[in-house]
Amino acid sequence: MIIKDKAIIHKRAELCEEIRDDKYEIEIDLNHKDIGIGMSGGMDSSLLLWLLAHHISENELDTTIHIWTCIHEEKPGQAVHSKNVVEFVKKEFPNVNFGEHMTRVTTAKDYISNGTILAYELVRKHGITALYNGVTLNPPDEIGEAVFKHKWETRALSRNWEKRQGWIDRNPSVLTDPPHIEYRPFIHSDKRIVLAFYKKYGLYVSLGSLTRSCEGFIEMTNYFTETCKECWWCIEKEWATADIFNYEPKVMLDNWVAFKERE
Ligand SMILES: [Zn+2]
Repeated sequence: MIIKDKAIIHKRAELCEEIRDDKYEIEIDLNHKDIGIGMSGGMDSSLLLWLLAHHISENELDTTIHIWTCIHEEKPGQAVHSKNVVEFVKKEFPNVNFGEHMTRVTTAKDYISNGTILAYELVRKHGITALYNGVTLNPPDEIGEAVFKHKWETRALSRNWEKRQGWIDRNPSVLTDPPHIEYRPFIHSDKRIVLAFYKKYGLYVSLGSLTRSCEGFIEMTNYFTETCKECWWCIEKEWATADIFNYEPKVMLDNWVAFKERE
């Protein structure tokens, strides 16, 4: 079964009956008995887990969701946020089958590679045929420096998928048996697609508050109790939230310390 899901966005206040031009659509292939998803505890992967469970539940599918979480040794909050999100989704959808949540703490140096190794270990162990990933594109170039100023150059390079493919090609031993398909349902859009679906399903406060997209280190986040408002992920999330919830991202971001520093 292929699921198509669409989020439409309305304007605000006296214009609230008008629909904005931007449309956000995803396609989810649920023709799989066992699926896997990488959970960082951030907004994107958390929403994707919720959407998978929601559509499996709606369609009463006999699909089992397995989860892997690679925990960066200097960002231990990922363990807490990903577990809280999984608990929330399990409670919302008691009729959905959940398999293993495989977690591992890894060195900062090999964080991305170790994530792939962990994902493929999960695939082999449970005969997973579809791996889901909540990655989005970076914001469009035309928005770039106009909104993000000097922070634009710090945008997430991990979204360079050719680079990751290169790593897989150089490490053929990780190829899985059975072979699996990798799905990235948000990859045709930027982070606004994620916020659009949070809005559609009313999840921004409930699920959203359990997530943490900030990649700030311990000294930037008051020992991980706050978001840093400096890292790319904090800034990108604020921009996407503002856009979808109809407030002005530039005005908000201009008040953030990270933007004032260079003025
Ligand atoms: Zn941050």
